[in-house]
Amino acid sequence: LANRAFHPEDSIIDVSGVKVGGDHLALIAGPCSVESFDQVLEIAKAAKAAGANMLRGGAFKPRTSPYSFQGLGMEGLDILCEVKKEVGLPIVSELMSPDYLDVFNEKVDLIQIGARNMQNFDLLKQLGQLDRPILLKRGLNATYEEWVMSAEYIMASGNENVILCERGIRTFETYTRNTLDLQSIPVLKKKTHLPVIVDPSHAGGKWWLVEPMAKASVAAGADGLMIEVHNDPENALCDGAQSLKPKKYDELLKQIKQIASVV
Ligand code: PEP
Ligand code: MN
Repeated sequence: LANRAFHPEDSIIDVSGVKVGGDHLALIAGPCSVESFDQVLEIAKAAKAAGANMLRGGAFKPRTSPYSFQGLGMEGLDILCEVKKEVGLPIVSELMSPDYLDVFNEKVDLIQIGARNMQNFDLLKQLGQLDRPILLKRGLNATYEEWVMSAEYIMASGNENVILCERGIRTFETYTRNTLDLQSIPVLKKKTHLPVIVDPSHAGGKWWLVEPMAKASVAAGADGLMIEVHNDPENALCDGAQSLKPKKYDELLKQIKQIASVV
């Protein structure tokens, strides 16, 4: 179903009125984790002023260690909904368990499936029952074929609104958190008709790598960027080292818009 051969035009996915794909860029910004209402509100206002068209925030967090901050859960989701009412940006948040399928379907505009759940096939099948668009992140060590097959699981189960997100893969390099696979953008856009966006924050793991990799991604044809933005990265509960301050995000989007207008 995702195959470009049977669907030559780019798919355009509608996320509560924000179009993604074709010549529409998804500009998703926000903190790794929802920490408080004031935190999310401040970041959301700044991100929107910079030109972001969606707000991200993790409420349920897939942390490597069970002793790390696990997210605010339902309270976090409610904070996102409150901020959405004030700021008006559609919200993007990660779903980890089928237990929350109905709640996410009701409250979240774009449901994120994280790298660690890319091959949670039961969860993928259940996403097929929803009307909401799905943001499917690439697994830590997934090949293009495996990633596309995961999209097929969702599509074959009845939901064709899938956006792919490259977020870096595990390689032998340990200096960066992951290695951003820029080649995935043209390859996935050639093999499939789905929008392909890039998350340079989780790829590099360092805030100063976000700008060059975001620019390269858009130059390579990415349909959008998901970037972690935090008002106080030094004290963030999660992923502060890879988060941009709002001012840097604003500067970055100005450059991104120039690149997007020429490619
Ligand atoms: C995230 O975007 O919050 C996240 C946990 O990313 P990933 O699943 O790509 O590691
Ligand atoms: Mn994060």
